[in-house]
Amino acid sequence: MEDIDIHGAIERYKNRHGYTTFNPRAALIDMDGTLLDSMKWHTKAWHRMMTELGVECTRDEFYLYEGMTGAATIDSLIRRAFHRPATEQEKIELYARKTGYFNEYPRVEIVPDADRMVKYLIDHGITRVLVTGSGQPSNLARLDGDFPGGFPHDLRITSHSVRFGKPHPEPYIKAMELAKANPWECITIENAPLGVESGAKAGAFTIAVTTGPIPDSDMWKAGADLVLPSMGELADLLPCILKGC
Ligand code: MG
Repeated sequence: MEDIDIHGAIERYKNRHGYTTFNPRAALIDMDGTLLDSMKWHTKAWHRMMTELGVECTRDEFYLYEGMTGAATIDSLIRRAFHRPATEQEKIELYARKTGYFNEYPRVEIVPDADRMVKYLIDHGITRVLVTGSGQPSNLARLDGDFPGGFPHDLRITSHSVRFGKPHPEPYIKAMELAKANPWECITIENAPLGVESGAKAGAFTIAVTTGPIPDSDMWKAGADLVLPSMGELADLLPCILKGC
């Protein structure tokens, strides 16, 4: 692959926000598709539930809705198919059905090299804050085993912590407050355009890792400061990014 210009990306980031400095000491990290390779099962469960309901849709389109709350996704598709809003009852029942399908599928693996990336942050004293739109207890509970010491429980933003989900900047702004860090002291690690938009609007240096089928161009359009093809690539480049080289 072509050389990645980290220095240029950092300069463009500073100019865009009017910052004079970039001193990363906190990493704000998404969960689904970033730490856990769960999106293939989420998209399969969404597609199965919506198809049963008579909603025409493709499995891949659900990668684009990643980061939205389940209720917002259901409302959006019901409106598109049936030209009416979803009822509160439908939002609850359909999300429960989707979660049930997800739980039928095989155990989710971690994204390759995500453990190496998190270990590097721990070893170099970078504060980690989890920032997920999910409230799914099964996935949140396993992080302690998959990433030992990686995500302290008092440094987690979940669907229960926020009023607005991604792409609103609130989740990442709240994460900065937990980390006691300014935006120019934070990197955000994301895999989905709506999450990228949220992190970039909050003012962090936002790194998109394309772990699914979404093209790079969608990540740039959402406001990514850097787009990388794999978590391994990010782990390799972290020393450079954190030093601001
Ligand atoms: Mg994600």
